[in-house]
Amino acid sequence: ESFSYSVSHDLRAPLRAISGFAEIIVRRHQSDLNEEGQRYFRNIVQAGERMGQLIDDLLTYSRLGRAGIQRERIKLDDLLKEIVMRMGSTISKKQGTLVVAEGLPPVMGDRTLLSQIFINLLDNAIKYHRPDTPPQVTVDFRNEDHHVIISVKDRGIGIPIEYQQKIFDIFQRLHPEDEYPGTGVGLSTVKKAAELLGGKIWIESQVGHGSTFFVK
Ligand code: ADP
Repeated sequence: ESFSYSVSHDLRAPLRAISGFAEIIVRRHQSDLNEEGQRYFRNIVQAGERMGQLIDDLLTYSRLGRAGIQRERIKLDDLLKEIVMRMGSTISKKQGTLVVAEGLPPVMGDRTLLSQIFINLLDNAIKYHRPDTPPQVTVDFRNEDHHVIISVKDRGIGIPIEYQQKIFDIFQRLHPEDEYPGTGVGLSTVKKAAELLGGKIWIESQVGHGSTFFVK
């Protein structure tokens, strides 16, 4: 953890220099560059932005739980309402639906960790929809042995069985950036948050039919 923390910080300075100088060249010396040169510099700027996003996500991952875990009674229905409201415009832009079951129970947990879990799972459920079908996402729950199991279900592209464990490893992605953007840090953040709370996460998925992520 301390490794990824200092790497994230030490990577920022040279990245800022690379991106900053590339941007200056694009802005001030555009007329000195031919079409090919301009394209290369635009690629440098874009790659810099992508690397900045990777560093941000890596930082979120490494910071998770660092400040200690604040266990308190969290009303899951309020928390989910807040998160869903923030995602409202993304869902309506894609003409999707997101339904949260009534009566989600309160749990003992850490607000930041629980938020990270649901933000990332919902983000993915919305993002990985089939190209011809808008996202259809359902959040549901069931009680089992004094625990609550929450499910986030989508009818998206699904995940082949051989990758259903790997996707929880950091930076593991199954799609090129131009098809589905992302950094490959989301699910490892979810797993880490669930485990810090003494819980776990698992998945059921079928290619072409959708995925359901369970958090206990
Ligand atoms: P990111 O979405 O930034 O790529 P994640 O760690 O959140 O990274 O997810 C890892 C990979 O797992 C994704 O790149 C994608 O291939 C796959 N994945 C995650 N959630 C879903 C989902 N709901 N449906 C289909 N594939 C998914």
